[in-house]
Amino acid sequence: MAEGATFFRPTRTQTYRDTMDTVDCVIIGAGVVGLACAKTLAESGREVVVLERESAFGTGISSRNSEVIHAGLYYPTGSLKARLCVEGRDQLYAYCAERGLAHARCGKLVVAPHAEQAGALDQIRAKATANGVHDLQRLDRAQIAELEPALDAHAALLSSSTGIIDSHGLMLSLLGDAEAHGAMLALGSPVIDGYADKGTVVVRAGGEQEMELRANWVINAAGLDAVALGQRISGPAQATLPQAWFARGVYFTLTGKAPFSRLIYPLPEPGGLGVHLTLDLGGQAKFGPDVEWIDTPDYHVDPTRSERFYQAIRAWWPQLEDGRLEPGYAGVRPKIVAPGMPDADFRIDGPAQHGTPGLIHLFGIESPGLTAALAIGRQVAVMVAG
Ligand SMILES: Cc1cc2nc3c(=O)[nH]c(=O)nc-3n(C[C@H](O)[C@H](O)[C@H](O)COP(=O)(O)OP(=O)(O)OC[C@H]3O[C@@H](n4cnc5c(N)ncnc54)[C@H](O)[C@@H]3O)c2cc1C
Repeated sequence: MAEGATFFRPTRTQTYRDTMDTVDCVIIGAGVVGLACAKTLAESGREVVVLERESAFGTGISSRNSEVIHAGLYYPTGSLKARLCVEGRDQLYAYCAERGLAHARCGKLVVAPHAEQAGALDQIRAKATANGVHDLQRLDRAQIAELEPALDAHAALLSSSTGIIDSHGLMLSLLGDAEAHGAMLALGSPVIDGYADKGTVVVRAGGEQEMELRANWVINAAGLDAVALGQRISGPAQATLPQAWFARGVYFTLTGKAPFSRLIYPLPEPGGLGVHLTLDLGGQAKFGPDVEWIDTPDYHVDPTRSERFYQAIRAWWPQLEDGRLEPGYAGVRPKIVAPGMPDADFRIDGPAQHGTPGLIHLFGIESPGLTAALAIGRQVAVMVAG
């Protein structure tokens, strides 16, 4: 808020619904990205209100993913995904250490089951090096057997800076930091629409009682709904919106103990990273996500998809017994390119990109959005600071 301006800050029992004032920054969506933006903006002294449609934070994409801290191997060099993943990964490890958040730098193996696939590992290593990831180690069959005896692969890349994190603990901590610096989270507050007005953006939110908020900055971090919401905020930015596409990924959990202590990834496939094995912090193994393009987001897990999982996993773990995979959960990727197209980069669209003052759209924040969240928050704060 401008210095000297009056601002009515509601108590926790009142809400911003009871007021009609100009807020400095309104963030739409309390997933990991919206909360990281809230933390960064609030810590830089900004007035922040987060509007979340659901009755709890972090129930969207941020609670339906692999919880992997990615090293940054695969993304096109110079892309936002490449830069923000590497920056975000370092910031995230530092943040976890500082706050004592549950995580593990367990490492991962990218595997080439057969000799003819080994060249793909060289390409991944070259891309990773160009992206600033220098800790990859090439392993042959004997070295793989030493690390992971159950793994059957001709060659692999060991990524030591890959890890796993408790994403809910992370979001709770981000929210705590934001609130400690004055931010307020309004749950049950779906943003219906909005419009650009004299350098500000006005948004209308529903819920128990409808309200309008005028903001110097509106950050659209609505995940799967970001594009649809962008269509409902009138102004020049509408001409630059991408089209939304959705790709579901399902997970199957492994019954019993996994014979692996690192994450195991096959070579990437179009639309995703391939059916990989991830471990949670309790050591429970899950496989996924696969890629299935769908018209509207839904989280159905079709148990018959396990057949493809068995086949894909046995390419590098032939001893996987029948009956060990159980349907787990599903997540949906917020895609902004059609099936069959090369993956799109993250889009962090501010006034320079779309021409609407005070509006920042976050589009296509699929993987590695969890890893990159803190770096995305910083990038948004830089845009807001001008
Ligand atoms: C299957 C899968 C696996 C993944 N694995 C990883 C991984 O291992 N590592 C990694 O780094 N990344 C991973 N990702 C990516 C990562 O999970 C996402 O990039 C990240 O969670 C996106 O966070 P978000 O805050 O943008 O979206 P969300 O978490 O979906 O948050 C958006 C919020 O906006 C709210 N909202 C929507 N519309 C409105 C509205 N109109 N008004 C108010 N609120 C609204 C929603 O309720 C939601 O809470 C994965 C993604 C998927 C789909």
